[in-house]
Amino acid sequence: MGKKSWNWIVAAALAVALAGCSAGPAAPATPAEEDASGFVSLAQAAPDVILEIRYYSTYNFVGDRIDGYEQPCALMTRQAAAALEEASQDAQARGYRLKVYDAYRPSTAVDHFVRWAEDVEDTRMKAYFYPELDKSVLFDQGYIAERSGHSRGSTVDLTLFDMATGKEADMGGTFDYFGERSHPDYTQDLTPEQLENRNTLREIMVENGFQPLDTEWWHFTLADEPYPDTYFAFPVSEDSVPAA
Ligand SMILES: [Zn+2]
Repeated sequence: MGKKSWNWIVAAALAVALAGCSAGPAAPATPAEEDASGFVSLAQAAPDVILEIRYYSTYNFVGDRIDGYEQPCALMTRQAAAALEEASQDAQARGYRLKVYDAYRPSTAVDHFVRWAEDVEDTRMKAYFYPELDKSVLFDQGYIAERSGHSRGSTVDLTLFDMATGKEADMGGTFDYFGERSHPDYTQDLTPEQLENRNTLREIMVENGFQPLDTEWWHFTLADEPYPDTYFAFPVSEDSVPAA
């Protein structure tokens, strides 16, 4: 028997094995990338949260509206949104509101970031978001990646809005700044107040089931996220999720 025939037999056996896997009654229910049925809008699920959706606007590190952001709204998995509502209540008890910059991020948006990062000539927003870095290092240093945990729907980028001053709490750094001062444990030239504000945000989120990230003070993921292996692609729009 020739090599080609063997290849065909192996391929056919594999196809049968794979078909068996997906058709079996014990197969886990893996949601399709376009299936938003487990998601809700934060406007419904956590109505006191302030939204400033940067990737819908042009004030972000790319300088354009990002692919997949059709409305300035925030979507999350039902479980993450419920935990965020609890965090929102805690924040209010301490005199703050939560202010969300981004939540669920479609994989189409991440593809847009990757395209932008490959175009090293486009440095329109450098002065605001990466003044210390050459754009060519963004992949190697982990600032831009092919996939984002945000696409799994249980991750949120946010800060505290101080109800007493009517301003964002001073975190000693800004959302999406590519540099070491975005690390939550960066202390070099932060004031005690800035450190305390970072700690307060972290405390509120961790107490309500979220895990922090060691490179971005604003980024938190629900520890017990419901879709740890699925990267969704449906657009950010109230029309994507089931009506409340
Ligand atoms: Zn994030």
